[in-house]
Amino acid sequence: MRSETRRRRARPRLLLPLIALLLILCGALALGGAALRPRLAETAEQLLRLRGWFADPAANPEWTVLAGVRCQPAAPMLLPTAGYIGFGWDDSFRPGHRHSGYDIFGPDRALNVTPVIAAHDGYLTREPGWRSAVILRHPDFSAIVPGEQIWTYYTHMASADGSQSFIDPAFPAGTRELFVPAGTLLGYQGNWSGNAATPTGIHLHFSIVKSTSDGSYADETDIANTYDPGPFLGVVRNAAGVLVCGSVN
Ligand SMILES: [Zn+2]
Repeated sequence: MRSETRRRRARPRLLLPLIALLLILCGALALGGAALRPRLAETAEQLLRLRGWFADPAANPEWTVLAGVRCQPAAPMLLPTAGYIGFGWDDSFRPGHRHSGYDIFGPDRALNVTPVIAAHDGYLTREPGWRSAVILRHPDFSAIVPGEQIWTYYTHMASADGSQSFIDPAFPAGTRELFVPAGTLLGYQGNWSGNAATPTGIHLHFSIVKSTSDGSYADETDIANTYDPGPFLGVVRNAAGVLVCGSVN
């Protein structure tokens, strides 16, 4: 008899937390969905624009940025290449993904044609195994990150199958700590993704990478190890969501 009573009382005690948990879950799902929807719409819009760009780069000159330009007087870096900034920092290609840099798609629609230059004075390293990438060390970046050493990373400078590197011959694999002034030609845009089956579309991936505690470069594929290139380049998002050179009023 006593145990019966206990059981009857136990039921509502269990039910209430269960209902609360369900309500919390429903709320979280609704909130998550709402947060995800604008991002998905944004990605769809970016893909649509990118398709338009690939079809005819000249049709949208207002999307174009030019290599070597300082977009705002206070911006410490030069634009590293020409084209359309199709994907920006913290953009998402798929749910949960966060892009660590800028993808700048060249206006020339051909491999090994659109120049890539150093965005700032720095010390160039190309690791022995790198076919398509170089990284520059910038010892002091007081302008934006006081007291910090940062790196600029430039990649996809090779053919789709990785067999042909488009990096300037002045920087063979294994180059280490070679000083290059801002504006130095580093190579040309390509579409090597690291996997021949999935070429990237001709572009430069450019990112600004933090240093590790021992002074080397951090893993740039993790967005937490990078900075938004916008303030460094003077690039901003206009009302239509396009990343453009200069200030938007
Ligand atoms: Zn990228």
